[in-house]
Amino acid sequence: MKELILLKYGEIALKGLNKNTFEDLLMKNIKRRLKGVGKFTYNRLQSTIYIMPQDEESDLDVVMEKLKTVFGIASICRAAVFEKDFADICEGTIEYLKDTLSFAKTFKVQAKRADKAFPMKSPEICSELGGVILEKFPELRVDVKNPEVTVTVEIRDTNAYVHAVQTQGAGGLPVGSSGKAMLLISGGIDSPVAAYMMAKRGIHVSAIHFVSPPYTSERARMKVEQLCEKLTAYCGSIAFFCVPFTEIQEAIKDNCPQEFFTIIMRRLMMEIAQKIADRDDCLALVTGESVGQVASQTLKAIACTDAVCAMPVFRPLIGMDKTEIIEIARKIDTFDISILPYEDCCTVFTPKHPKTKPSIEETENAQNHFDFTEMIKTAVEKTELKVIKLEA
Ligand code: ATP
Ligand code: MG
Repeated sequence: MKELILLKYGEIALKGLNKNTFEDLLMKNIKRRLKGVGKFTYNRLQSTIYIMPQDEESDLDVVMEKLKTVFGIASICRAAVFEKDFADICEGTIEYLKDTLSFAKTFKVQAKRADKAFPMKSPEICSELGGVILEKFPELRVDVKNPEVTVTVEIRDTNAYVHAVQTQGAGGLPVGSSGKAMLLISGGIDSPVAAYMMAKRGIHVSAIHFVSPPYTSERARMKVEQLCEKLTAYCGSIAFFCVPFTEIQEAIKDNCPQEFFTIIMRRLMMEIAQKIADRDDCLALVTGESVGQVASQTLKAIACTDAVCAMPVFRPLIGMDKTEIIEIARKIDTFDISILPYEDCCTVFTPKHPKTKPSIEETENAQNHFDFTEMIKTAVEKTELKVIKLEA
């Protein structure tokens, strides 16, 4: 039986005059995501995208899985394609939905008749097809208010489509519709989740990672690249910047008061990240911080980090518990990589008693024990860029 895929968009449908721009971007992202899994024709009509396979080869289960990671799609369903002949539609519907209908208790039929030349009107289609279904599945009852299964028949220009099962899409807005931001990515659980959350709101994410060899290993860096690869399913291609940070960390250790190590390090990370973000046309920074998780994530410590930031810093996990973050990390399949036990530069030279409530003034004084200007410049110059592409 011939099938196609229908995608409904959620929020984009409300976009008024800008709707076309959002739709175009969504189409582009969908086509990019489905590259390599088959040939399709695409149509869009009334907030729905119709994806019709052009060959027998495309595995629609694979296509569905890929589409589930595309932001901007509210729901996805597979539908059977029929000639616009009512007897064919009835017979085909029974065959196509036999598993779904034999497990259900209640159902209703809804009809959408875009082709006004079709000889039956919608209420007639519903009652006739409903009757045929009841005959075949006498245990079923019609429930128009709260049915377990809604059988939808769409009569379109060239064909009729029938579907009953809707899968939830990724929601959100198409990636790229909200500009670009620079994610500070560690190898931990949180920052990849932060990337997912921002991409969901249409942000195109670039990523920056600080390494301190020999204190951090090549494997730790590869782990972060692997996380980025996973993220491309949701975020599209990611520009990955890797910053050599050893010299700066050693200078902090050798010159600044120990209880301020972490907070100074974080301020310097932010300064470097902003410079790279500027060059990469990013309008904001993103971190995986959540209030109170560690000493550098108290409100006072966050104020000290933000004091060096001229661009907005987004912390999409700020009010989330670790368990909630982990749930998303599992869903987006980054969790198993994140828990691999390689060291991060944040854990190099960590003080025994970090200041949990630093004031901006005392932090600045502590940082002023050393002039980091030249080292920041060098780190920016030596930053390496690698584009991590969305694989088919
Ligand atoms: P995560 O699970 O993301 O590692 P965490 O709870 O371990 O978070 P921290 O190590 O304090 O928290 O880091 C807080 C945030 O700082 C991270 O979410 C990330 O945005 C950023 N960060 C930490 N280490 C690095 C690094 N090596 N390079 C870039 N950003 C980093
Ligand atoms: Mg970390």
